[in-house]
Amino acid sequence: MSETAPPDERSQASRPLPKAGIMDIHAYVPGKAKAEGFAEPIKLSANENILGSSPKAYEAYESAERSLHVYPDPRATIIRTAIAERYRVEPERLIFGCGSDEVFALLNQTYLEPGDNMVQGEYGFAAFAIGARACQAEVRYAHEPNYRIDVDELLKCVDERTRLIFLANPGNPTGTWIPFSEVRRLHELLPPSVVLVLDGAYGEFCADPAFDDGVDLARGSSNVVVTHTFSKLHGLAALRIGWGYAPAEIAQAVDRIRLPFNTSIAAQRAAVAALGDAEFQRASLELMETWRPWLTQQIGGLGLDVVGQSAANFVLVGFPKTPGKTAVEAEAYLATRGMLVRGVGNYGLPDHIRITVGLEAHNRAVVDALADFMRG
Ligand SMILES: *Cc1c(COP(=O)(O)O)cnc(C)c1O
Repeated sequence: MSETAPPDERSQASRPLPKAGIMDIHAYVPGKAKAEGFAEPIKLSANENILGSSPKAYEAYESAERSLHVYPDPRATIIRTAIAERYRVEPERLIFGCGSDEVFALLNQTYLEPGDNMVQGEYGFAAFAIGARACQAEVRYAHEPNYRIDVDELLKCVDERTRLIFLANPGNPTGTWIPFSEVRRLHELLPPSVVLVLDGAYGEFCADPAFDDGVDLARGSSNVVVTHTFSKLHGLAALRIGWGYAPAEIAQAVDRIRLPFNTSIAAQRAAVAALGDAEFQRASLELMETWRPWLTQQIGGLGLDVVGQSAANFVLVGFPKTPGKTAVEAEAYLATRGMLVRGVGNYGLPDHIRITVGLEAHNRAVVDALADFMRG
């Protein structure tokens, strides 16, 4: 953490100075959306749903068109009720946000003060740390051997100033996951004063019976928050809506600082419709079951290192350091072929790129282009 500027230094400055630490934060880098020379590039850079959104969600979105002048329901009652029924949880324990990103930010703001720390994996999602730093807290990165969260490494970072642990399972950008037995062990060994946030943004894509998003653990605990989003499986990234299931005391504390109208009418309605569209969800999951292993196998066959067995809607690919064959050059080359992927140097992975699973034609095009790239 940077030095705290003494208060009088800021009062005597010739222009307003941000509080200590703000200018040390690197703003979130979104996946690229443009490739030169291509009006409609294939965008595989942001883990969006390649099938779009549920037709029922489009209809619900359109139904909000005549309500633009009305404030949304601050309690988001329609989606609160729908989530409570679907996940069999208490509605008053739910927190809704402008994406799950806002739920993370609210948890950071509620629990972190200067001198506190937050713990996450070394390749953990950037949004967790940005919000923690904005609270002038220290961010501690636990080593992830083989690109996978390691519970003992997380625990090693915990001390008496730890207030939060963020664990995305499966992780982004790694795509790797840890079995629920390990999550439970982490919870058992944590001091009860630490909030354990289980980010299930990609949880729906993991079909392994050893995986669990932690809702049942959260139900009976006083320090576990499980988050989910409508941005990935449900294809509603543009509408910005996500949620957390928290102990009542945490939900109540967060509600004191939450902006009142933080999810829109369109988002609330579309989310209800999306949650009810089992067919769209099934199609999205089937696409993953078919093409994730195919991509893994084909890209591996080119001599590239596909990390772990991704359980998310993307694969992470390692490249050699040989000039002409690097990850940076691969990303640039794919862009010349109209394909956008995600360089992850900002996650401490300069030799990798992350590729969202696409439709059949996209996946074949990516593999063909990577084959040409590797041939030189
Ligand atoms: C995409 C993603 C989310 C979801 O973010 P939203 O703000 O809900 O769109 C959460 N966590 C991780 C790790 C993600 O990659």
